[in-house]
Amino acid sequence: MTLHAIEISRSALLANVETFREVAPESRFMAVIKSNAYGHGMLEVAGLLAPHVDWFGVNTLAEARRIRAIVPEPPILVMGLNGWEDQPVPQGVTLVLASLQQIQAFGTRGIPFHIKIDTGLSRLGLRGSELDEALQYLAEHPQAPWTGVMTHFANVEDVTRQDYALEQIRRFQEAREQALAVAGSRSLLFHAAASAAALILPESRLDMIRVGISLYGLWPSNETRLSLLGRQGPLPILRAALSWRSQIVQIHSVPAGASVGYGCTARLERDSLLAVIPIGYFEGYDRLLSSRAHVLVRGRRAPVIGRVSMNMISVDVTHIPDACAGDRATLIGRDGAEIVSAEDLAAWAGTINYEIVSRIIGDLPRTLVT
Ligand SMILES: *Cc1c(COP(=O)(O)O)cnc(C)c1O
Repeated sequence: MTLHAIEISRSALLANVETFREVAPESRFMAVIKSNAYGHGMLEVAGLLAPHVDWFGVNTLAEARRIRAIVPEPPILVMGLNGWEDQPVPQGVTLVLASLQQIQAFGTRGIPFHIKIDTGLSRLGLRGSELDEALQYLAEHPQAPWTGVMTHFANVEDVTRQDYALEQIRRFQEAREQALAVAGSRSLLFHAAASAAALILPESRLDMIRVGISLYGLWPSNETRLSLLGRQGPLPILRAALSWRSQIVQIHSVPAGASVGYGCTARLERDSLLAVIPIGYFEGYDRLLSSRAHVLVRGRRAPVIGRVSMNMISVDVTHIPDACAGDRATLIGRDGAEIVSAEDLAAWAGTINYEIVSRIIGDLPRTLVT
């Protein structure tokens, strides 16, 4: 096998889309594939999902162009802020405009756009008098190809009581009434929900759900899962799509008392067999995993010993005596009966699963597997 393999399960991705079709049968499904599809490989995921989803969501126009070069459908929404001023926008790409100034500058260029309303995240979006002015402008420019209105939630995945999100929905409904009043003959798509809201807040689903993390089979948070556990009906099944494998490149025996790695932060208490795996923080294996994470070798857990370096880690395989150079090492995924999940790595590194997967370096090859 090659030194590195990031395997993306087709059946898991398709099953997750299907799960959301069942969760929100009335809403269109946007697959959010920004940031290299959260580390899963944007073009691989786009090619697979194009026939199965209603929209793609990305952050940049550059991402939209790369996708449009390989698939003519579905439409793509560019949700981030990036200087489009003099860039050509391909067919089937819709921009998100988030300020009055942008709407005045781009609104009449013939490129379809959605507007973004700030309902409480206080990041991008129109609010207050700026929203009123923007809607006034759109009322006066009925030719502007305005096709949708969106907002984004602040804390759905952080809590089990959704008072804040419900207030955001209330504000969005208000903005919706205002928007419909000036839309004229334009028909507008209203959307708000990312994964967590799509899963737990039926009133957020509206015309479309924008699903990122859970498309890849990961829960947005424990709170999100807990929120659903308390309800009737089965918990939606999400299947983690990504496995990250590498290989043991060398094994050596190191005597008790030796220290391991930069900073001499780990010291061996017994004579040990240490395996070197050619993955480090450059490849996206966070340095905060030093002496905390486990990898899987021959179906057993092997703890990371000492610091994660730029391109290497050492793991203890003393208890896996048949381990040898060339053995597969699983950083994320299943090996036999054992699993290391993106959540496990997130907990060890003190971050969220989103960051763990999206930071796996883009130039390791992604392979679609069954
Ligand atoms: C990234 C993003 C999403 C997807 O969020 P998940 O929590 O990963 O489902 C949805 N909407 C917007 C605007 C985003 O930027």
